[in-house]
Amino acid sequence: MPELPEVETIKLGLQGQVVGQTIKKIEVLTPKSFQGDPRNVNGQKISNVFRRAKMLGVELGNSWIVLFHLKMTGQIILVSNRARFVGGHPTSDIQGEMPNNSTRVIFELDNGSKIYFNDQRKFGWVKAISSKLIANSFNSLGPEPLEETFTLDVFKSQLQKRKNTPVKVVIMDQTVVAGVGNIYACEALFMANILPTRRIKDLTPKEVSKLHQAIVDVLTLGIKHGGSSRSHYVNSEGKKGHFLDFAFVYNRSGESCRTCQEVINKTVVGGRGTFFCRFCQR
Ligand SMILES: [Zn+2]
Repeated sequence: MPELPEVETIKLGLQGQVVGQTIKKIEVLTPKSFQGDPRNVNGQKISNVFRRAKMLGVELGNSWIVLFHLKMTGQIILVSNRARFVGGHPTSDIQGEMPNNSTRVIFELDNGSKIYFNDQRKFGWVKAISSKLIANSFNSLGPEPLEETFTLDVFKSQLQKRKNTPVKVVIMDQTVVAGVGNIYACEALFMANILPTRRIKDLTPKEVSKLHQAIVDVLTLGIKHGGSSRSHYVNSEGKKGHFLDFAFVYNRSGESCRTCQEVINKTVVGGRGTFFCRFCQR
């Protein structure tokens, strides 16, 4: 599943291409993949593209929003006569003929461009939702870690919600902090020298402070490198992100730690594969 940096990368790629365009027509090929009434989308001008947590939002002139969640295999492909921008799960056909077998929804823009929402396994979704309703559904989400409002004090109080839970599970909880998934949780904990299994109540104030900074740093680095390629996400220009070339622990079990040269271990925390260095992390 794409995490904050992957979705942010898609957002940045789409923004310059679709803002100001009007959605001429929406075609829903797979009803399961689209929720809402297409009539709220048809004929509307795109005023903004934004990200909240791991979701991508396209804001319309009538203050309705088209919200995308790519989940496991979702793709967003913008095809214009000049170029193609793709984001999401890379498959060999992502640069091929569109629509294809996994195309679920097609948006036709007034400049002739088309946005294809493809999703092989159909866990992802597209929703047409009013901005009033969206405020409610975003209410339960935790703070955006790259916004100024994500202060150390805010982070501390968010952690208190789950004092007895392993720290890795807590920082992946979207109600605690938005947008962090498995890759960036593993990396942030390595950067903060904290074992993923430690419970929140056992962390020292210094460790909490280090973790807060590590989350911000690792997500910023992820965006800088266009997201992660190993998790199979290509960025909005069809290039694979290469954040994982810089990963210290994620998917590196059996390899040597870039810091101490000892072997990286793998365990399962909260049902998810978890990578760590037992010498660098305490
Ligand atoms: Zn190490």
